[in-house]
Amino acid sequence: MAVSSLPGAPDKDLVNQIKRLEELFTIDTATLKKITHHFVDELTRGLSVEGGSIPMNPTWVMSEPTGHETGEYLALDFGGTNLRVCQVTLKERNFDIIQSKWRIREELKTGVAEELWDFLADCLHQFIETHHGPITNNTMDKIPLGFTFSYPATQNYIDEGTLQWWTKGFDIAGVEGHNVVPMFEAALRQRGVPVKLIALVNDTTGTLIASAYANLHMKIGCIFGTGCNAAYIEDCGSIPKLAHLNLPSNTPMVINCEWGAFNHRTLPRTPYDTSIDKASPRPGQQAFEKMVAGLYLGEIFRLIMVDLHSNPETHVFAGQDMSKLQNPYSLDSSFLAAIEEDPTDNLSNTLELFQTQLNISPNLPELQLIRRTAELIGTRAARLSACGVAAISIKKGYASCHVGADGSVFQKYPHFKARGAQALREILDWPAKQDPGEEDPIEILPAEDGSGVGAALIAALTLRRVQEGNM
Ligand code: BGC
Ligand code: MG
Repeated sequence: MAVSSLPGAPDKDLVNQIKRLEELFTIDTATLKKITHHFVDELTRGLSVEGGSIPMNPTWVMSEPTGHETGEYLALDFGGTNLRVCQVTLKERNFDIIQSKWRIREELKTGVAEELWDFLADCLHQFIETHHGPITNNTMDKIPLGFTFSYPATQNYIDEGTLQWWTKGFDIAGVEGHNVVPMFEAALRQRGVPVKLIALVNDTTGTLIASAYANLHMKIGCIFGTGCNAAYIEDCGSIPKLAHLNLPSNTPMVINCEWGAFNHRTLPRTPYDTSIDKASPRPGQQAFEKMVAGLYLGEIFRLIMVDLHSNPETHVFAGQDMSKLQNPYSLDSSFLAAIEEDPTDNLSNTLELFQTQLNISPNLPELQLIRRTAELIGTRAARLSACGVAAISIKKGYASCHVGADGSVFQKYPHFKARGAQALREILDWPAKQDPGEEDPIEILPAEDGSGVGAALIAALTLRRVQEGNM
């Protein structure tokens, strides 16, 4: 960007700052390949008895949908930002869905456990009363429920899950290390909510299964949202930590990687990443996630801006009211998305955004610095995400497949898909496309609704397995 051609501004210093940020945030092909290489190792280590940095949790989802699943299910989607209740009617590769959504209040994320379970149960209760009429004692058959719990959980059975650690800024005492299902069921019982929890599901597992229901080429399910993660199908014979169960070696098992926990010294962490980690409720955890997930992108940007302002050499935002920008996590990834989407030459939309949201009026060179910073953060996130997709593909030997992806960053962040695809191309050494319309060997495509439809499908698959006596 031609910052230096602008008259009357502290051009040289800002150009130097942009250069410094470019050096910190740009990840070249060689580094992407190194990270991917270690990522493959960590996937394998996570399946071993000793374990590694990534949990690689077996999910007890052991078959793909046939496409002939039918019936009516509830899905409860407890993610990082919203709570959603869905009623899903499955009909042969197709489905109907009705749903309601609630925002998860900030206090709830760091509050007490009972309030969380009460909130979940209340929302389900309200949904059922709205759509099925008043709940009276014993009048209703219990509706099968798939519970999408989008946090790392170990499972010995599909209808339980022990929370390993909270992610995405949650910090509720007394839940880590415990099976969350009995706590949730107690709140359901108290209210007489007529549901039967059939399966506890990660959002990535749901995404994989929902996408495979509609498209047989889907081999990996990813979430690039508030958090980030992926699931894929492993053979039981390749999961040494399950060897003691003597499962047939060719039996499929969906693995929830929990790749947000990936950590390796090849990750080019900046001082801003280190600050985020230190100030988080779980320092040292989710190193990869803290560089790529939506929850953190705006915060990385904010820390850079605050740093540039306090640097006496740059004079960025000199004389402006910085009070609003001092608030941790006050900018979310949609703020960065809006900056990257600004189509104007003079970045007037970005100016307006800063004025209305932050009470700051940047000059043009500052606006250009802002735009470049957003690009660098967004590009780094997309390129690092591609390392995870490449690693699973390499581990499984997939030369070509489809990857189903969901989440706010994947759906809404400008250029995320193209930047991720470009990085995959570099990591996997694909030749240049002959024509632009050509498919890549591995395509990351928008997924079906994993946390709703996927959870319902998994409940259906589980009930079928129970009926067939294969539990
Ligand atoms: C959680 C995962 C989840 C991902 C996306 C991460 O913080 O640990 O379980 O799949 O966010 O929601
Ligand atoms: Mg979600």
